[in-house]
Formats: sequence, C-alpha cells, structure tokens
Amino acid sequence: MDDQVQIRCTRCKTVFRERARRMQNGYSRQCPSCEVVLFFEEDSPDQNMKRAMKTARKVRKDLREAEAAQLTTSPSSSRRGGTRGHGGRQETAEEEEEG
Ligand SMILES: [Zn+2]
Repeated sequence: MDDQVQIRCTRCKTVFRERARRMQNGYSRQCPSCEVVLFFEEDSPDQNMKRAMKTARKVRKDLREAEAAQLTTSPSSSRRGGTRGHGGRQETAEEEEEG
C-alpha cells in the first residue's frame, strides 16, 4: 500500500513525496529542490498544502485500518522490534488520535 503523499513546493513547484505518517499538523521539511522550508499545516493558505494534508490524513486512516486488519488475520506474526531491519532509521513519530 502506498503510504506517501505528493506535495508541491510552494516556491519552485517541484513535486515530491513524503510519508503520510510524518505529515502531522505542524511538521516541516525542506524542499529537495530549492531547500525552502515547507510547513505542513491543515489551515495553510496554500491550497496544495491544504489538500496534501487532507490526503495524508486519509492515508494514515487507511494505513491504520489495514494494519488492524492484518493483526486480526495473521495472529502468529511478530515482525516488529527487529534490530537489523532494512532502512536503518528508527521511526518514533507519535500518532495523534483522529476521527
Ligand atoms: Zn522548492
């Protein structure tokens, strides 16, 4: 399942992708092209950003539901907490309750 959302830079209009889980209200990141800092706000004056936030919210919800479904369908899976996972970056982002 695709967990990334397309974002258009407000300055250079480059389209890049960010993981929906990171795109909480108040999050910020640099554009990979022009390096301007973009602020992810649900009440952003930028329509592209606003729509991206909305999409991210929906994707997070879908992801959560998919995970919940997986947990119930495969009870014998214990594949988290590994020390040699791929990627190498530990994600400790906190999820806010929604809905
Ligand atoms: Zn840019």
